[in-house]
Amino acid sequence: MVIFPGQYKKLALARRRSIAAADFAQNTDNKILLVPQYNFDAKPTRAPEYHNVGVVASIFEIVNEEGVTSLYVNGIKRVNIEQVITGEDFDEGIYSDLIETDDNTIESGVYFNKIIETLADKERLEDTIFSEHNIDIPEHITKNDLVDVLGGFMPYEIALELLSETNTLKRLETVLIQINREIEIAKINRRIAMKIRASFENGQKETYLREKMNVIQKELGIFDDGQDIRQKIEALNIDEESRQKLLKDLERSQRMQPSSSEYTLLRNYLDFVLELPWGIYTKDNIDLKRAKEILDREHHGLEKIKDRILEFLAVHALTNDHKQPILCFVGPPGVGKTTIVRSIADALGRNYVRMSLGGVHDEAEIRGHRKTYIGAMAGRIISSIKQAGSMNPVFLLDEVDKLTKDYRGDPSAALLEVLDPEFNHTFRDNYLEIPFDLKNVIFITTANAMDTIPPALLDRMEVIEMSGYTPIEKLEIAKRHLVTKQMYLNGLKDGQIEIGDDVIKIIIEKYTREAGVRQLEKIIAKIMRITARRIVEEEIEKMVVTADNISDFLGIPMVRGTSKFDHDEVGAATGLAWTQFGGDILNIEVSVMEGKGDILLTGRLGDVLKESGRAAISYLHSHAKELGIDESLFKTKDIHIHIPEGATPKDGPSAGVTLATAVYSALTKKPVRHDISMTGEITLRGKVLPIGGLKEKLMASQRSGIFEVIVPEQNKKDLSEVPQSVLDEIKINFVRDMDEVLRMAIR
Ligand code: ADP
Repeated sequence: MVIFPGQYKKLALARRRSIAAADFAQNTDNKILLVPQYNFDAKPTRAPEYHNVGVVASIFEIVNEEGVTSLYVNGIKRVNIEQVITGEDFDEGIYSDLIETDDNTIESGVYFNKIIETLADKERLEDTIFSEHNIDIPEHITKNDLVDVLGGFMPYEIALELLSETNTLKRLETVLIQINREIEIAKINRRIAMKIRASFENGQKETYLREKMNVIQKELGIFDDGQDIRQKIEALNIDEESRQKLLKDLERSQRMQPSSSEYTLLRNYLDFVLELPWGIYTKDNIDLKRAKEILDREHHGLEKIKDRILEFLAVHALTNDHKQPILCFVGPPGVGKTTIVRSIADALGRNYVRMSLGGVHDEAEIRGHRKTYIGAMAGRIISSIKQAGSMNPVFLLDEVDKLTKDYRGDPSAALLEVLDPEFNHTFRDNYLEIPFDLKNVIFITTANAMDTIPPALLDRMEVIEMSGYTPIEKLEIAKRHLVTKQMYLNGLKDGQIEIGDDVIKIIIEKYTREAGVRQLEKIIAKIMRITARRIVEEEIEKMVVTADNISDFLGIPMVRGTSKFDHDEVGAATGLAWTQFGGDILNIEVSVMEGKGDILLTGRLGDVLKESGRAAISYLHSHAKELGIDESLFKTKDIHIHIPEGATPKDGPSAGVTLATAVYSALTKKPVRHDISMTGEITLRGKVLPIGGLKEKLMASQRSGIFEVIVPEQNKKDLSEVPQSVLDEIKINFVRDMDEVLRMAIR
């Protein structure tokens, strides 16, 4: 490269000596002497052969980016090199100014005008270097300055000539000749291109051009790994249209500067596409006996659920039908929803992948962003498939009930397409651009609650409910699975720890309050960790955990959630609620104070609960006489209903009886039994209507230590779902109206 005065240029510095020179110059007067070198392809170790004319330039900036040092300079003047002194770190040049006189002859004026004229004729300049760059010629430019401006665009040899020439006329002549030569070359090139186009068949032309491109790239030292990618694309198990598209993208990238962001984007895209498991299918194992063994090995109990899974697998084996409903396991946390899906994958011998939908609110998270979008990525479906490594994994969509939608589009619509066998064999991800076949994926979903699953999705699914475990079931699960599992995970061997049933029972009763066994497992893991530490630190042989020393491990019992009232109180009644985390008890407090008949509702109350509260009061008001309530109280007192913290209940009307009982107690000053809990909706006439989630509610009552429950008569039919161990422990009173409730609940 040759730099001319007035030129602003970026130079990439590779040699240590060049960088040292630039650093030194920047630290002294900020000027550097740039001298063209003849043997520029010589090894860095050989001394350079310098041209006898150079340019003094001012340093604008030295930039170091990713290990490449660039020098930004501005040429000032041409100089004669008198002497070069080879220093230890860099070379120094001694120079004298080069005298250029302005030439005012008519002849040079003609050359000058001719150059200006040619540069203005854009049509003639077509396809030359002068049309590619927007060359800006200031209006009153001198002849030598014009040459310097144009010199920067000339081939190396010509540029050298222009650099050292002092005769202005000669310089102008060289420039003019060169411009015209470029114009002629461009014309010839156009003719050749036309001939090539005419004489080559399409395929031939492409091969020819590709060859040519390879040669050029090699010439320019651009390393091209395109061949490798091309082979991979050609070997890919995809349809022809997609293949052509990928090849086009590859070619496009080959035409780009490897340092450009578009190049990186395209290559990353191709890498991503190539890493997807196109055409890779694992072979299904359809041995149902083995499947049952695997399901039993991992999960205790759950017989009905395992049966349904085996049916699913059987139908799958017989029909390989993609139209089987999508299974959706619904239940509180820690009941084994996720792990049972894993077992299904194991039983089938398929790969397994899990994707959580919790908090997904943007369609692009499912379907990806277009490539042109900054930081674009494939959607999570396709990314998960990549992770799974096969086209037919068992794909767990966790927490479908936690999908939300906002202005960025509705993810459930995208998900619907993913799950629909009519569409999902050509699933389109925005980033991927080419269709992907999801037909052979087995999708299975989980949710905590059914009512927040988008209805269109729910329609496609078969819900399998998994409710909580009874204490007895939990004990079995802990003994058979959790203890051994956590022992193994924490590196303990048989005989190094002993945990008795009584200890597990204490953990279940005092240290956890949950429908599933997640907390229980965590606590067992904690005991294992502490034991492991003592075995290593204190070299004890064996740890025996007993009812007496359990608090050494776990501290004093501390459970979150609502606890029952510890004695009978006026205005305090215990309800039962169904929540996402299973069931829970619901403490309702009412107080009555001087006022004028206002009703105040506070605490965690949903709209439906508030309605129930008002309905309860209306009922009591209109039946005051029969119930023995002083009717004037409804005018002279304010009634305040409060539901203290604890779990957020699902907003429902089933607290009606509890609200009415608490208000009745507050108005009559008769205490409510604290050892009885109740659930039921009431009508304005005092009829008690049935409720949902009986099993969870009874289990919650049992967990909280309340063993007598008031339940609507019409819920009798649901008893068959309640585990025997719960029925054995809990006394259930069926009621038809509010009268009966009050008789049982009020002391
Ligand atoms: P979920 O997905 O329902 O929240 P997980 O599948 O994560 O629950 O289960 C939590 C833990 O409890 C897991 O370690 C699982 O193995 C264990 N677990 C749950 N149910 C059972 C069961 N019936 N038998 C054995 N282990 C169980």
